[in-house]
This record gives sequence, C-alpha cells and structure tokens, in this order.
Amino acid sequence: MDATYDLIILGSGSTAFAAALRATSCGARVLMFEKSVLGGTCINWGCIPSKTLIHAALYKHEALLGSRLGIGSDENAHPVDAERLFKHRETVVARLRQERYLDVLGSMKGLDLVKGTARFSDSRTVVCDDRHYHSGRFLVATGGNPRIPNLPGLEKCDYFTSRSALLLKKFPASLVIIGGGVIAVELGQMYHRLGCRVTILEHGPRVLPTVEHELSAALEGVLVKERITVVTNVKFCSLDRLGELNVVYADVDGMRHKFTCEKLLIAVGTEPATSGIGLETTGVALDNKGFIITDRQMRSSVAGIWAAGDVVGKMMIATVGAREGIVAVDDMFNEGCGCAIDYLAAPMAIFTDPEVAMVGHTEDSARQAGFDCVVNCMPVSAIPKAHVTGMTDGMIKMIADRESGRLLGVHLVCHRGADMINEAALALHMRATVTDLATTMHVYPSIGEGLKLCAQGFNRDISLLSCCAE
Ligand SMILES: Cc1cc2nc3c(=O)[nH]c(=O)nc-3n(C[C@H](O)[C@H](O)[C@H](O)COP(=O)(O)OP(=O)(O)OC[C@H]3O[C@@H](n4cnc5c(N)ncnc54)[C@H](O)[C@@H]3O)c2cc1C
Repeated sequence: MDATYDLIILGSGSTAFAAALRATSCGARVLMFEKSVLGGTCINWGCIPSKTLIHAALYKHEALLGSRLGIGSDENAHPVDAERLFKHRETVVARLRQERYLDVLGSMKGLDLVKGTARFSDSRTVVCDDRHYHSGRFLVATGGNPRIPNLPGLEKCDYFTSRSALLLKKFPASLVIIGGGVIAVELGQMYHRLGCRVTILEHGPRVLPTVEHELSAALEGVLVKERITVVTNVKFCSLDRLGELNVVYADVDGMRHKFTCEKLLIAVGTEPATSGIGLETTGVALDNKGFIITDRQMRSSVAGIWAAGDVVGKMMIATVGAREGIVAVDDMFNEGCGCAIDYLAAPMAIFTDPEVAMVGHTEDSARQAGFDCVVNCMPVSAIPKAHVTGMTDGMIKMIADRESGRLLGVHLVCHRGADMINEAALALHMRATVTDLATTMHVYPSIGEGLKLCAQGFNRDISLLSCCAE
C-alpha cells in the first residue's frame, strides 16, 4: 500500500534528525529511512567513538607529562588495556545513541521510521522494499563514505578506513596512514599515543591542506616533536602485501621509498552517498565529485528535493549538517523566511592535541571578499596559563577589517582550542571588533585569555603587558 507524508528524509544521521525535529515541531508528518544503524556516522563511527578514544589517549599523554613532575606514570608502567578501552568506547556510544537518537525518536510525535534502503523512482516518490512513499518534499541526507583511492596493489593489503579504524579490537604495532587530512592527524596522533608506531604519508606539501598554512605548520611541528613520522610530497606508486606486512612504495623528492606496516589506514576524504539512490530519475544535479549541488536554502536543482549534510560536501561536520537540515526545513515549510546557510559562521575543530580550530574568513578568503584586512599572529606561549599547564605549543591567528576593526576570522592551534573557538564564533556572530575582544575581561589565568591577548596584539606589544593589563 502506498503512503504519503509531508516530508520524506533519506538517512537517519545527525542531519536527518535535526531536520526531522524541526519539521515535526512545525506539525509535519515525517518519514525517515535508514538502511544501516540508526544515527548515522557521527554517533556510530565518527565524532563520538573517535573523540572517546582520542580523549583516552590524552589521559595517557598527560600522565606521561605528569611523570616529569614526579606524578603520573612513565611510558611503560601501565600498558594500554585495549579491551577495557574499547568497552568504554562502546558504552559511551551506546548511551548517547540511546539518549540522543532512540529516545528522541520515541518522543517525536509525527515521525515514522522505516528500516531499509530508499530509492527515488521519480521526483515525488521513493521506493523501499517494493512499497511506494509519496511526498511533495524530500530531504536527501544520505551522508558519505570513506573514499578509497585507485592505487595499484591496494586490494592485496590489509587496510582499514576511518570507519573500521574506530571499531578495532586490538591496536596494531605499526600503522601507515595514506592521507594527511583531518582524520589522518586525529587518528594518527591517537594511535601513536596508545602505543602504535605511526607514519603519515601526505601527497601535498603539508598536512591539513585546507587550513591556514601557519596552523598546519604548527600542528605538523607538534606531531613530529611527538615522534610521529610525517612525510609530505609523497607520490604513491604501488602497494603490496609481504607476509604479515603491508608495503607502500612511493617517491619522495625523486627518491623511491618503501614504507611497511602491520595496518594501513586509508584517509583520503569522503565520497558522497549519491549513487544507487535513484537520483538520476529525478534530474537532481551533482557536481563532478558526485555531491548534490544546492543553493543556500539547501534546495537541489529539482523543485521539492532538498539536500543537506555530508552529501552536499561543503563543511562535512555534524553541526553544519544539522544547520543545513534545519535551513532546508525552514525553507520548505516557511517559504520566503529568508533563511540561508552561512558557512562563515560555523566554527570547526580538529581534535588533535593541541586542537586546531577556526571560524570565519581565512586571510585569502577575506581578501577575495574585498576586505582590506589586517592580521595578527601570536604564539600560545604568550598565554600565561599555557606555562601553568605546560601546553605551550601552538599559535593564534586573527584577521580583522583594517578600517572598522571588525573581526573576520579566528584560526588557532591550542590546547582546548575547540572550546576556545566558540567565543570567537560568538564574537563574529555579534560582529564584534578587535577592540571589543581586547577590552572584554577574561579569566586569569586561562587559555581563553589567548583571544584577548591576540586582539590586544593588533595595537601593542603584548610582551610588554603585565598580567591582566588592558
Ligand atoms: C572519524 C570521524 C570523526 C568525525 N568527527 C567529527 C567531530 O568531532 N565533529 C563533527 O562535527 N563532525 C565529525 N565528523 C563528521 C560527522 O560525523 C559527519 O559530518 C556527520 O555525521 C554527517 O551526518 P549526515 O547525517 O549528513 O550523514 P550520516 O551520519 O553519514 O548519515 C547518513 C545516513 O544515511 C543512511 N543512508 C544512506 N543511503 C540511504 C538510503 N538510500 N536509504 C536509507 N538510508 C540511507 C546511512 O546508512 C547513514 O546512516 C567525523 C567524521 C568521521 C568519519
């Protein structure tokens, strides 16, 4: 029997849930499809399991730092109890999946869930297990999958992706990571800290190629200081499996190198989950990588079909996907509301230690947008609290409009940077100036004071300021 809904959502990840909550709160009858595990990437094999393990690795690292002061434990005192750690990861995931997805689902009036793969048969209908579901509004929130590069010999290797890397039952002795992006540095440092020998192979000239170059240089310095091997400008040639080991053959600066490892992690980005869902029957336009093209209201090229989250390939983070989903729903049910996604307002963080975080314009994008901008960079070692904690690595970069002093972008590598960037996001949202930030009292000593100090640094030499001076 056919069924009709006010809105049909393909996918049940963080994007889909945010959209469904918004739509049901408007009184809409919503249907959501999920072909795999409810909750999608973030809760099951993304944000939550990765951050749980990364935080555990931080405990181990901080214990080592503590041992230098006569507290904590040295490297070999307590080997990692992998079984206990993975059980902890599963407990955290299970709890949040229950509380943030299953319980929410149960309490959302007007939402139905169908377990199965949904496929468009035309722009007004999806089919799942031979049943037809109709609507005048669809949201495609099918997310993405780890991209597997076409490297000769890869099929012979024992490799995993970000998804399987977080579901491991035991730590490998050695790990080579192909790719130097967000997942490579987050998981690479985590595995290194938990006792695995890690090599990161990046084909470009630097890790984190999409962040400001000062940040990527600062982070690379930290990774190398921690004795993670980072190799850039790698031209991959072929891969092989020799006995129990994987082998990567690559040219670096014109010289052939051979990298061997017990496990290989492929971390070269995400491809959109747009194939096999019948989009060709609708005429929805895709870009050359297969991501759905949308406008700022998240409308696809076909009336009645919106898309949001990783499947549109903009900022592939959970918060942005959720906001895109909400913007789409507002546009659907409140046409003319003027809602639009603003990527410049979205803070994002990379959970290495120190954390890399950013919001707003980069220096280049500010200039391209026509701003005459001024920039101030400050080392984290200028923050008194950094000396209290011993976490002195990193830097803060601020970009402001020269004439008005309006803050345009904040980029930082700093211990607890993911927490700090929220203040910068608020400052940008409120269109604050450098002076606003410089004259706002901050807790002393705190790492967050770094934002105030960096803002003060636009007009004066902060090394000549006494503590708390304005
Ligand atoms: C290792 C890792 C760490 C991350 N860490 C962070 C972080 O710390 N912070 C952050 O903000 N973001 C993080 N992200 C990114 C974040 O997880 C994603 O941006 C977010 O989960 C995308 O949500 P989504 O709903 O768009 O897609 P998904 O969560 O991928 O959901 C899509 C769902 O659609 C389902 N589906 C697909 N096709 C169909 C179909 N035809 N029919 C029915 N169902 C279908 C899939 O099974 C899936 O469950 C991380 C990602 C990874 C991989």
